[in-house]
Amino acid sequence: MSTDHSPIFSLEVFPPKRNAAVGTIYDTLDGLQGVDPDFISVTYGTGKQSDRTATARISNTIRQEYDIPVVAHLTAQYLDKDGADEALDLFEQAKVRGVLALRGDSVEGREPAGVFEHASDLAAYIRSTHPDLDVYGACYPEGHPEATSLSQDVENLKKKVDAGVSHLVSQLFYDNSDFLNFISLAREAGIDTPIEAGIMPVMNVGQVRRMGKICGARIPHALDRMLDRWQDDKKSLRAAGIVYASQQIADLVAQGVDGVHLYTMNHPGVTRRIWQNVGDLFEPPSR
Ligand code: FAD
Repeated sequence: MSTDHSPIFSLEVFPPKRNAAVGTIYDTLDGLQGVDPDFISVTYGTGKQSDRTATARISNTIRQEYDIPVVAHLTAQYLDKDGADEALDLFEQAKVRGVLALRGDSVEGREPAGVFEHASDLAAYIRSTHPDLDVYGACYPEGHPEATSLSQDVENLKKKVDAGVSHLVSQLFYDNSDFLNFISLAREAGIDTPIEAGIMPVMNVGQVRRMGKICGARIPHALDRMLDRWQDDKKSLRAAGIVYASQQIADLVAQGVDGVHLYTMNHPGVTRRIWQNVGDLFEPPSR
């Protein structure tokens, strides 16, 4: 890894649920004032509560009203080509910088459309139909839970990059050595795109244990101790979580990573405090 470049810093927000007040996204975005990301990514919901146009609308708001470049997520497995075109056209109208092409998780009782089996299929489709959009992709430092091994997952990741993904954003992890090991494997496999490290600040015990189960994120001893020590004291756990995430980021930047993607969980106060700790490690974005 090279340490002579300035790392990227980006944020992730999610649209409010269908019945939630639209204004909640403004609370999040207003609360992020003072934080200076290279881009903000906006997630795409697949559940029943999700509004299919919300990602495009919020992307448009972020770009127009806050003047920050946007990457819009799109999950593929329940889309046919018309559905994908509809979403991609809306993203183009919102002038997003790129699309994070995902397969998405399976929703119980919902039959996949059978058009885009893997994220790489959507990536190839975007490349051929919407060449002006940059294609981003997800990667998994500890391996995707469905993959039989990390090396098999990295082989599949190479297919995604070969299909047209030019920038990767990682799943959350709590031990930097897992990410650094993954970067070595990815580079050995010939993946030479920028790879941003996904950091999710610890805010409560349930969240960490749940994410551990869902995405297989290993909980290192130091974090486990923190969770035990402050399991009944939300305020202290939150404070310790901010320190933990800040230390992870400072170490990753020192190790020369390409960038850091902070999962804000729509909690701007936590993001702001982390930015106060580590913001000076990043060059201001050139826009
Ligand atoms: P894929 O890249 O298709 O991988 C899924 C599995 O298939 C892996 O095991 C992989 O090894 C295997 N595979 C991939 N390509 C091939 C191939 N060509 N041949 C054989 N096997 C293959 N979910 C949402 O619903 N909305 C979001 O907005 C969202 N944003 C996310 C952002 C990030 C940064 C990350 C890390 C995850 C996000 N997710 C989101 C969750 C994501 O949808 C799930 O992790 C999902 O299970 C996998 O999606 P993927 O795009 O990584 O799938």
